Amino acid sequence: MYKKTAFQKSLVALSIAMASSFAVAAPMSNEASPSNATDTKAAEQVIVFHNVNIFNGIENKLHNDFSVVVTGNKISTIQQGKIKAPENAKVIDGEGRTLMPALVESHMHLALPKGLLGTDDMRWNEIAIHAQSFAEMYLDLGFGTIRDVGGADGSWTDMERDGRLTEVPRIYASGAPIAPIGSHADVGLQSRRLSDSPQNLEILNIMSNSNGAEDIKMQARYNYRQGAQFTKVFQSGGVSSKFDPWQYTSFTDDELKAAVDIATSYGSYVATHAYSDKAIKSALNNGVKTIEHGFTFNEEQHKLYKEQGAFLVTNLTAFSPDLANVPVVQDPMIQAKLESAQAAFEEYVENVQKLDPDYRAFNTDCVGTADICAKQIAHEIYLNAKFFGNFNALRAMTSTGGRIPAELMEDWINPYSDAKIGVIEEGAYADLLLIDGNPLEDISLIGGREQWFENDAMPDGSHLTEMDLIMKDGKIFKNTL
Ligand SMILES: [Zn+2]
Repeated sequence: MYKKTAFQKSLVALSIAMASSFAVAAPMSNEASPSNATDTKAAEQVIVFHNVNIFNGIENKLHNDFSVVVTGNKISTIQQGKIKAPENAKVIDGEGRTLMPALVESHMHLALPKGLLGTDDMRWNEIAIHAQSFAEMYLDLGFGTIRDVGGADGSWTDMERDGRLTEVPRIYASGAPIAPIGSHADVGLQSRRLSDSPQNLEILNIMSNSNGAEDIKMQARYNYRQGAQFTKVFQSGGVSSKFDPWQYTSFTDDELKAAVDIATSYGSYVATHAYSDKAIKSALNNGVKTIEHGFTFNEEQHKLYKEQGAFLVTNLTAFSPDLANVPVVQDPMIQAKLESAQAAFEEYVENVQKLDPDYRAFNTDCVGTADICAKQIAHEIYLNAKFFGNFNALRAMTSTGGRIPAELMEDWINPYSDAKIGVIEEGAYADLLLIDGNPLEDISLIGGREQWFENDAMPDGSHLTEMDLIMKDGKIFKNTL
């Protein structure tokens, strides 16, 4: 449905070129030399990294002994060996550390501090303060980009871009997920009548209950009006909600198509929460482009994903026995849903190992406080590497996360269309991490932890500190060197 973007085309070209040598993919030409770059961008800050090994987000290898120049907010030069730093440049000697793209979280929620049910009883200012600390926690953990798939509106993106929020990652936001009465988005009391006024989360446009194609179109348009950049729907039931069996399908084909029509008219796409095989296939067949959770992944679905150019965004903590200890699933009714869901998703890991989808992105989906979720993110990183290997985990958390907006959105709706996200490449955004060691061999270097709640490296109230340098948009937020 969507034209191939320049990014998509160049990624293909890049992966072919990189099969032979990195230097081919990232040529050092006179035009791209650091001195020329400073001539044309005299006012921009220049930072030069010397003596770094590069993980570029795409290849399963390090490129040893490189120099990388950051001019303004982009990577301007990548060259093997030590280059002469321009005058006034800040020089950082990496001393053989790994330079890699900042991480990309493709499924999170800024505005659900107490889950779906608990947050409905919170006031907007409590939620907003939580959302800010949550976004800041992500940057502390080395994430340069987060994708809010339900709850936050475009004001968060606006505040990140215009500098009102300084210490946060880039933020993509969908606004309120769209789903019908009785769905995963319905957090009301059982005694609620159809004539009752909207629930708190609907009033705050954090969740919506939309029924029928016309209602869905209006809610989708309202979300874009409020600055959302893509549409989120719930096409199956979930676990942490009351009235929706996870096995059921929320929308009819014409309702799904209504959401896809509006997203397409805005140059964007629809993401859906979906568990069951039926829900996932109905979504892919109706033009939905990202499947969130997607636990029943199988060979037939794999073909559909490839045909549709769609992405699979799964939270692997769903397969952990520790999931039952998460605060927002303690209700006995929700525990029962969780048990039946986990039993039904047994083939996911094996099928991903077998089919190796290169369109799988990273998803933590934590709802709760920043301290609780920092530990869940650490465990999610660990499970990605444990199930699928370090490279597969790192690719999901970098270049694949960057491909979602680049391949599914027109430039005019994409707030970060100026450069690539999740790769180290000339011209890409300078969202970078400097790591002491090789994350392709040791996933703990980017925060992966086998323990979840018992994570000793992350006592309550602290976030990870292993990374030596965290840069977003050319600005250094942490530097221990
Ligand atoms: Zn979610």
